[in-house]
Amino acid sequence: MGGTHVLDGHPRAESIRIRERLTGHVETKVLALAGLIAHGRGEAFDYILGEETTLSAMGAITAAAATMLLAERPVLSVNGNVAALCAKDLVELARATGARLEVNLFHRLPGREEAIERVLREAGAEEVLGVGKAASARIEEVYSDRRRVDPRGILVADVVFVPLEDGDRTQGLVRMGKRVITVDLNPLSRTAQAATITIVDNIVRAMPLLVSEARRLRASERDELERAVSAYDNRAALSAAIRTMESRLHELADRGAPVRLR
Ligand code: ATP
Repeated sequence: MGGTHVLDGHPRAESIRIRERLTGHVETKVLALAGLIAHGRGEAFDYILGEETTLSAMGAITAAAATMLLAERPVLSVNGNVAALCAKDLVELARATGARLEVNLFHRLPGREEAIERVLREAGAEEVLGVGKAASARIEEVYSDRRRVDPRGILVADVVFVPLEDGDRTQGLVRMGKRVITVDLNPLSRTAQAATITIVDNIVRAMPLLVSEARRLRASERDELERAVSAYDNRAALSAAIRTMESRLHELADRGAPVRLR
């Protein structure tokens, strides 16, 4: 995949590198064009959030790791954006929690599922569910191609990780009685609002933290994990994320000063 050379001193060097990775993955078919737009929406919220993981997001990450470790059949649902941004972390999270990886897409364009599977396998995945004929089950609660799921995966999962997704999907899975964990920079999205646990953070920052939390908590007793889950309140976490954005905007408006870029 080509790309322009990004100077390290550029204040948004990392963000530009991520954009290049995503646009490169349009060529490999991993990413749909709509995925680029979704990323832009996320970036806008990250600007306001201050581009760092907040304390409340860290609380959501701990609750998410504990929920996955307690699950009987956890599944990590993978779309193009997620595969392009953090395939290695997904594989590590699956290993740390015993979750299975399943490709699930809004548009199953020819070659796309296979391209995503390739990225996951190159990152070390030994099993990838939901590709081609394997997505043979239908769930009526969800619209679009996403209703096609793997009978070994999302269909029977009790906990589903669905980062960077749209609201129909999350609402449908919650209606089916599943616990849904998401990562979404927009605390106002339907996904963020409907999920059981919403990590309001950039997935690029949240995934490595989620992996290390899962590894740290793996040795914990069940009741300790259960306490971590029941102490968590998603409404409070969403409020905290909105408050962080509000107070940052407030402070910037008061100062009337330009934002200091790192
Ligand atoms: P909804 O249907 O839930 O109201 P939506 O229509 O905005 O949301 P999509 O267009 O599918 O849903 O966008 C996916 C979501 O992922 C957006 O809310 C966006 O803010 C978020 N997002 C995009 N990139 C990232 C990222 N790198 N990290 C975290 N969240 C992201």
